[in-house]
Amino acid sequence: MIEVTLLGTGSPIPDARRAGPSTLVRAGEQIFLVDCGRGVLQRAAAVGVGANNLTALLITHLHSDHIADLADVLITRWVSNFDPNLPPLPIIGPPGIAEVVESTLAAMRFDIGYRISHHDDLTAPPQVEIEEVADGVVWGRDGVQIRVGPTDHRPVTPSIGFRVEHGGASVVLAGDTVPCQSLDELAAGAGALVHTVIREDLIEALPMQRLRDICGYHSSVEQAADTAARAGVGILILTHYVPAIQPGQEEDWRALAATVFDRQIEIGDDLHRVQVHPGVGAKPAG
Ligand SMILES: [Zn+2]
Ligand SMILES: [Zn+2]
Repeated sequence: MIEVTLLGTGSPIPDARRAGPSTLVRAGEQIFLVDCGRGVLQRAAAVGVGANNLTALLITHLHSDHIADLADVLITRWVSNFDPNLPPLPIIGPPGIAEVVESTLAAMRFDIGYRISHHDDLTAPPQVEIEEVADGVVWGRDGVQIRVGPTDHRPVTPSIGFRVEHGGASVVLAGDTVPCQSLDELAAGAGALVHTVIREDLIEALPMQRLRDICGYHSSVEQAADTAARAGVGILILTHYVPAIQPGQEEDWRALAATVFDRQIEIGDDLHRVQVHPGVGAKPAG
């Protein structure tokens, strides 16, 4: 079984009820944080997960809303861990992630220096193990396998999705993307697809061109549902709602997805949790 928790279902626009984009994936004893938007560690604390419990950090792309709290994750893991042999935090992301992590640590160098000089048992800065990938298998430990595939979020490039497999269960995290063949391949037969979405019908009606621009590189609810149907996934989990879903509107969003996808559709607030069991999915596309 793999457990998916939507830690933050918001977007770049600050919202009192929704943290920034990030999803927690538990597979066996391993805990993966996928993207680290605004407020991620507060939401993780609500489900009993601290920065020092993370097995690895997976980043889909380098848009600010998806990496807004990277410094918090790196520094908090470092200062809240008392293991003298703390292993480096694996960080897997698209090319460019190394520069983002290194410059984030550079921006934090005063803080890091203060803490090293103040605490005798902190002798080195936060340790990370960065892997830049655009495609292929990136993880294989203790029965958990993770594969990466390219997505299409141009001009944000490269952007990637992740497929996590454990004990016959599988979950694909698409991130921000328009429909594309490589995502279809990554998601083929998966138990669940976690997909960011926008309501094109609502956004296209807005008078600001800068907001309407976002339709060009995100999937609408119907497009995400269509991807899920084509790939034959078992559960479609929608997140990163643009505009934010207001209380009482959930069924409108679900109905739009259901016009295209006739299996389980999950929509929720922050901390919404979905269990993905082996054998879900693998429905032939058609
Ligand atoms: Zn994005
Ligand atoms: Zn985004």
